[in-house]
This record gives sequence, structure tokens and C-alpha cells, in this order.
Amino acid sequence: MSEIKTRFAPSPTGFMHIGNLRTALYSYLLAKSQGGKFVLRIEDTDQVRHVDGAEQVIIDTLKSTGIEYDEGPYIQSERLGIYREYADKLIESGHAYYCFCTPERLESLKDEKGIGGYDGHCRTLTQEDIQKNLAEGKPYVIRQKMPDSGTTSYVDEVYGEVSIDNSELRDQIMIKADGYPTYNFCHVVDDYLMGITHVVRGNEYLTSTPKYCLLYDAFGWERPHYVHLPLLMGKDADGNVSKLSKRHGAVSFQDLIGDGYLPEAVVNYIALLGWCPKDSNQEFFTIDELKKSFSMEGLSKSPAVFDYEKLKWFNSEYIKKMPDDEYGKIVMPILEKIFSDNINIGKLSELLHGRLITFGEIGERTEFVLKRLDMDNSLYINKKNKTTPELCKQILNECLPLLENLESWDNDSLFALLKEYSASSGIKAGAVMWAVRIAVARQGITPGGATELMEVFGKNESIERIKLAISEL
Ligand code: GLU
Repeated sequence: MSEIKTRFAPSPTGFMHIGNLRTALYSYLLAKSQGGKFVLRIEDTDQVRHVDGAEQVIIDTLKSTGIEYDEGPYIQSERLGIYREYADKLIESGHAYYCFCTPERLESLKDEKGIGGYDGHCRTLTQEDIQKNLAEGKPYVIRQKMPDSGTTSYVDEVYGEVSIDNSELRDQIMIKADGYPTYNFCHVVDDYLMGITHVVRGNEYLTSTPKYCLLYDAFGWERPHYVHLPLLMGKDADGNVSKLSKRHGAVSFQDLIGDGYLPEAVVNYIALLGWCPKDSNQEFFTIDELKKSFSMEGLSKSPAVFDYEKLKWFNSEYIKKMPDDEYGKIVMPILEKIFSDNINIGKLSELLHGRLITFGEIGERTEFVLKRLDMDNSLYINKKNKTTPELCKQILNECLPLLENLESWDNDSLFALLKEYSASSGIKAGAVMWAVRIAVARQGITPGGATELMEVFGKNESIERIKLAISEL
């Protein structure tokens, strides 16, 4: 077989749905796993739905996910002449025809439910009728002439054979009255002209593909391979699943990034939503590893369910693995926005590194640093360390002057000081650490121990919080 070539052909809607991103990814991986080429084509012939700046969203998303196109972006609205030229060829060969039917007539063909196809009325117009209508400037569309009988089938790489009775096919519009082509027509022309060997896309096109096959046949072109992908589903509150949509959570790549997910984690997770490696249980993949491992045999035809918990897990693992400098580049600006100079945000960032699930939760996770939270003295009770509010009060009272006298306020010095106090007082180190940690944090679960937190707070705030705790105990 000649070199494989795939494409991603999104409509510019202004956001990148996760399902579309997965289509792009699989299409890209299929080409790259076999040393082929990948094309980007923007399908913007639906002018009503056009959104300004939407192309850039697509380009930016591909860039940040590492999906690199070798050709394009081709823009369909810049290729209108080409589609018209190919539509004319089909008129000439008798596979397409002018249709001058008025909107009123088309409306009258619909049943009570508003459903109705075209009845082929203009199929039989004579050359004279056509020339006369054109000369009068009557609006028209160009329709594909479907065969009246027989069946059309193709073999999808994922779903197997798909077959349809030609009598069920309506004469669909190829070129609209405004001169713009329909998706149904122009994507076929483009896929052919761009040399696409494998069409990878969502399975909503599975059953309309016979119509596209008929276009290939009418032109005498070799049909491409079709790889339709199952829908992405979301889990509903009642335990059922339905097409992944906003009510399940963030569904666009942009929203996920906005919620603090890493592009690499998103790509890794969605790669596994409908595909799995052949002979391994490998879960972590860089895009380069995916390029090596991907194959069509690993694709599944059962709908994949998007699991936000699993994505969170991937993301937290990716954050943990980030080198400190890369991690700092993302986290420090967020912390700088939240905190004033008094807080040691370098240390805080370090404490959060192994513990964050997304970057979006930094505000919530550090609220106890920003504010002195209301707290309950029962937090001082800890069975393992045998602490009580009374014992904690004693510890804090005795440590306060020692801390006030401490010159260098860093984790090591603070740790040494509390250890020494524990030794001289005979109170277990665990109890001392517990009392101080609760007093400064004012909450039970913290990213880091007593002395690390005191380094984050700095001397003044730590002392103030301990004094406040004593007064409350
Ligand atoms: N523009 C179409 C869509 O976004 C592309 C379908 C295809 O890949 O052929 O659904």
C-alpha cells in the first residue's frame, strides 16, 4: 500500500470537544504509527455557524497536545471553486442534477412530524427547462442522484460491514443555493484531492458513509478506508450513561486546562478511551510512545465512558513527575497572585508538589495559609500521640518563648528546636509536632508538618497563630 495519509477535519465551533480531540489524536496516531502524513482541514462551509477566532482554538489545541500536522490547515471556504468544478463533473456524467424546487414545495413534502426527504422532482427536467431556469436566474441547488435500487456497502475498520438499501437514500444536496457546498459533498472531494487513505471520524457518520462511497464510485475514484470511532459517553447521576456533555463536567480541552489539568495528562487519558495497547498493560504514554504503540487492532467499538476520577488520577501522577522548574513555572504565578510577600511561597509550592490533583485546586488547598480559619479545639485530640487540648496548651505555652528567640526561621532549625524541647520536657516528639501543627494550620489535614508549615508562614504569622491558639485553649 502507498503511504498512509489521514486527516482531522473539524468544524470551527469555537471550542475543542474532548471527543473531537480524541478523533484528532487517533487519526494522527494512525498515520504516525505507520510513518504516514497527517493533514489539518478546517470545515467552515456552514457560514451560519461560523464563530470568529475558532480556527485558532483548533490550531492552539493541536499545538499544546503535540499533534503536529504535516499539511494544512486547508480552509474549505477558500476552495469553493474546486467544489463547484467537481459538482459540474457529476452533472455532466449524470450523477447529479440541478434542482429548482422552491422552499415552499420542499416544505409541502414533509409529513406531520416535519420529516420528509426529497422526491426527485427535478431529476427529469429537460435541458431546455434547465437552461431557461438558469437564464431567468432562478435559485437552485445541485443534488446527488442516488441509485433507485441495489445496495451500497463498505467495510468499516472498526464496525465491520455497513450496508444500506439504495432506495432509502435521498438525493442529498451537494451545492447549496448560496453556492456553498455541503459537508456531505465537499469532504469527499477534499479527502480525494488530499490523498487521504484512511478517514478517521466519529461514528455519527457510519451510516451516511454509503452515500459518500457512491460519490467516490460516481467519480471513478478509489474509496478510502473508513475508521469510525465510538461515541464518548459520560456517567449520569442515575448510573446510566449518555453522550458526554456539559452536565457531566468540563467537555472541552480549554475548560479542562482552565480547571488545572495538564495537556499531557489529558492526551494520555483520552488515548486510552477506546484504544488499548496490544500486548501490555502500559498506562502511561508520552505522545511519542503512543506513536509507536498505536494500531487499529487496539480500537474498541463499544462506547467509552469518560471517567473524571481517572483523569484526576492521571493528572496527579503527571504533576508528581514534573521536574521542579516546570512545575514552578505553573504554580508560582498562581501563588504569587494569592499571597503577599510574608508567605514563603517557594516552600509552599514545594509542599504542594506531591499532593496536587489539579492546578485548579491550589486556592482551596492553601486557604488555611491565606486565612486564619475558624477551628474547633477537638482537633488537638490525637489518639496515637495521646494529645489533649490541655497538653497542647502546655506545649504551646512552653514552646512560644523558645520560638520567639529563634533566629534562623527554616525547617531544620525549627525541627531541631522542637526536638530539643521534646527531649528536655519528656513529651513525645509526635505530640509536640501535633500541637504546633494544629495551632499554626488551624485545620487537621495539611500539606506538610509543623515545622515545614512554620517555614511557609514565617516567624511573625507563626508566633501570632500560636498566641491565638493559646488564647483559645
Ligand atoms: N467537520 C466534520 C465534523 O466536525 C468532520 C467529519 C469528518 O471527519 O469527516 O464533524
